[in-house]
Amino acid sequence: MDTVRGTETIASPLQESALRKKGLCDYVINVASGCLHGCTFCYVPSTPVIRTRQAQLAKKGVDNPQMDWGKYLFVREGIAEQLEETLSRKRTWKSTESGQGVVMLCSGTDPYQNHQTATITRQVVKVLLKYDKRVRILTRSPLWINDIDILRSPNVTVGMSLPMLDDELSRKIEPAAPLPSDRYKAMMRGYEAGIKLYVAIAPTPPTMQLQDFQNLLQQVMKFEPEVIFWEPINARGTNGKRMLEAGLDFVCSVTNRDSWAENFIQQWQDIEQAANNIGCKDLLHIWVDPELRGFVEDDALDYWLFRQTVEDWDNYTRKPKSIEIPLSQTVAQQNKAVRKPNKAQKGFVKLVAF
Ligand code: SF4
Repeated sequence: MDTVRGTETIASPLQESALRKKGLCDYVINVASGCLHGCTFCYVPSTPVIRTRQAQLAKKGVDNPQMDWGKYLFVREGIAEQLEETLSRKRTWKSTESGQGVVMLCSGTDPYQNHQTATITRQVVKVLLKYDKRVRILTRSPLWINDIDILRSPNVTVGMSLPMLDDELSRKIEPAAPLPSDRYKAMMRGYEAGIKLYVAIAPTPPTMQLQDFQNLLQQVMKFEPEVIFWEPINARGTNGKRMLEAGLDFVCSVTNRDSWAENFIQQWQDIEQAANNIGCKDLLHIWVDPELRGFVEDDALDYWLFRQTVEDWDNYTRKPKSIEIPLSQTVAQQNKAVRKPNKAQKGFVKLVAF
């Protein structure tokens, strides 16, 4: 299928989100449906967001929304105005312990995948900040660097998905996304600019082992993320088929529930060990899957589900490292704040051995 692009309108741009179970947010805003990055492992096309719109997408020229993921994008041009209208009337705001009232952009697409979505994302972030909302950006694209002027705020955290630093492997798994090396440079640039940062080491391929995690974490710690999320590849949906079509044979080792759980547990132990070895275990936040129940002790799962991250939303003390990046008055004021120590996390989780 040739790439299909267009626009679409939606009834409400602001959606309550179940991603509080991962400590991410209470609301999401998606600036588009579809994603031109088309990562082979992406689970979004298997979710109701796409599955329930099969007929609608067919009318727009998308016959197989699952297998053609990456070849269609419908941007929501008017959502900043809609959001302004919504927030001007909204009198209540959900703020759970694990979601912290945060609005995430985006859960079903990449907010900075191209200049069109980046423009809409910028408009949306400005509206959210005007109404004093907390914002979490999650992207694979360095384009957010162009928005440093508005993202350098105590109410914004910027995160990039960085499951590996191996550009060659990335081309097979996420062929249309910007290179991990470019993402890493963007994070270092954000660090220099004094932006609150986090990283999603997700999803990791089953080939990654203790030393790989250790090498990656050592690099990641150079931009001082406030939290490090992790999860392995879950290839048990149509994404498994897309990965096989892309020639990723390693996916065969995690396509049934037992093998997936076995790999999840092994990598969980490895990344915890790696984080412990280099002294960043207090930042690690495991995105557990409820389907692991029965494979790991309930306590280990329940510890992470709906857990608040160690991020500190109330105090912003990150200072720009580079004098070439001008300080706005707001940031200068923010830098006077004193950072509270992060809450200590428990020790190793106890896993059930196979
Ligand atoms: S960038 Fe995110 S939303 Fe887009 S295809 Fe990749 S995983 Fe899916």
